[in-house]
Amino acid sequence: MRAISGTMLRDLLVCERRLGLDLHGDPSLRDATSPFVKMLWANGLAHEAHVLSDMQQGATDLRQLPREERERGTKEAIAAGADIILGSVIVHDDLIGMPDVLMRTPAGYVAADVKAGAATEGPSDAYKREYLAQVAHYSFILGQSGLGRSDVAAIIDANGHLVEYDLALPFGRDRADGATRHLELLARARAIRDGAATRGAIAAKCSLCDWRSVCRREMTDADDLTRIAGLGRALRDAVETIAPTVSALALVPHPETGRATGIPGVGPDRLARFIDRARLIADPDAGPVTREPLLLPGNPHAVDFDVEADPVRGLVYLHGFWHEVDGPGSGSFVHFFAETADAAGERIAFAQAIDHFRLHRDAHWFHYSAYERTAYRGLQRRHPDVCAEDEIDEIFDPSRCTDLYQVIARSTDWPLTSYSIKSIAKSCGFRWEDVDPSGAASVQWYDQFVQTGDATLRERITIYNRDDVRASARVREALAELELTGRIEGFRRSE
Ligand code: SF4
Repeated sequence: MRAISGTMLRDLLVCERRLGLDLHGDPSLRDATSPFVKMLWANGLAHEAHVLSDMQQGATDLRQLPREERERGTKEAIAAGADIILGSVIVHDDLIGMPDVLMRTPAGYVAADVKAGAATEGPSDAYKREYLAQVAHYSFILGQSGLGRSDVAAIIDANGHLVEYDLALPFGRDRADGATRHLELLARARAIRDGAATRGAIAAKCSLCDWRSVCRREMTDADDLTRIAGLGRALRDAVETIAPTVSALALVPHPETGRATGIPGVGPDRLARFIDRARLIADPDAGPVTREPLLLPGNPHAVDFDVEADPVRGLVYLHGFWHEVDGPGSGSFVHFFAETADAAGERIAFAQAIDHFRLHRDAHWFHYSAYERTAYRGLQRRHPDVCAEDEIDEIFDPSRCTDLYQVIARSTDWPLTSYSIKSIAKSCGFRWEDVDPSGAASVQWYDQFVQTGDATLRERITIYNRDDVRASARVREALAELELTGRIEGFRRSE
């Protein structure tokens, strides 16, 4: 019987189908692990090694031993009363845990993991659930085996700070505590290990998962409701009470305006929208449609802009602008690249970008998704000497700046499962020059560029950014055509 580990519980939290496929799927059907994921692993391991090496002095270090010896060594170290144990292995019944650190306290041993991120998230600084799943598992094993404390665990975060997780503290909307959350996950993980069925979905996170091709095939074959943009896993459970598939939903009549649908969380307008999208997907000849006037600005000088960020270093390192002054096809690309991968380099590129906005005050600006506004607000907070908060608000004022994603989500429907710029622009005939264009890939290229200084990588990122802003221009042009003629010439489903 396969032992349940903390990593399995974390994976279950991310997606139950992933745990199901990891345990029972055909490994030959896995996709190659994304280079971005590999980069995160490598950075996580490097951070862990760095933090643990600082704790090595006076600690019992089991990290280099084979697994069985680490398990035995952990018991011996605990029996001997070691203050710090690195690389421990703890086992109880069908459970296994590998906490990075065990720390002796007067009330017993406490398990901790080293992480390359912050220990809490959101405005209320709630415990990070993926981290909690793992360390609560260690605490449970410690408590059950009588080796340590089950009421508390800890994270050593990206800054090397120790953050305690009180496992009896209720948090989140459901006010469940960490110990209860762990027991629920554990029960589900045991059921999946023992053969309980799991279901996939189509979600943004799938793009980084090794089972993406398997799940996409499964979801297409099942005509799954998550193929409808905006209808995720949680809503699927509710909507499938009236229609189990996209084709079935396409046949459902529109609900009466103002009348409850009987589906929790889905009002009549929202249900009507899902039905319309289902009808488009179910009709092989359908193209995108507008639902209301798009009100795109008619300013002859249009600028599409996009930033590239490195979430690992916490830097925004590239600002790209595509200027069109004489309509489609007349564009030129301007960009500002941080010359050093640090706060000083980020500041200079940010200042250049702000100057660029000032220089072209009369233009109308376009971006795709809320990310640019978030990124510029963060830049302003980190570099308040470059510009005031008000100036960021002015840049993103709707009278001079349009989020094309908002226009698409609010005022149009497409026969596509994703409304990302990649899906929409490709369906409108745009092609990226790079063979593997994605935000995740560009982060990995940047990481390699910083480590090696390889100029071809810098060029690759810049071309990728240029194509992102050109794609935005193509989407703008296609939306204008759709509004004017009711169709987009050459539209093709990109999935
Ligand atoms: S591809 Fe998506 S649904 Fe499938 S296992 Fe991965 S995360 Fe889950």
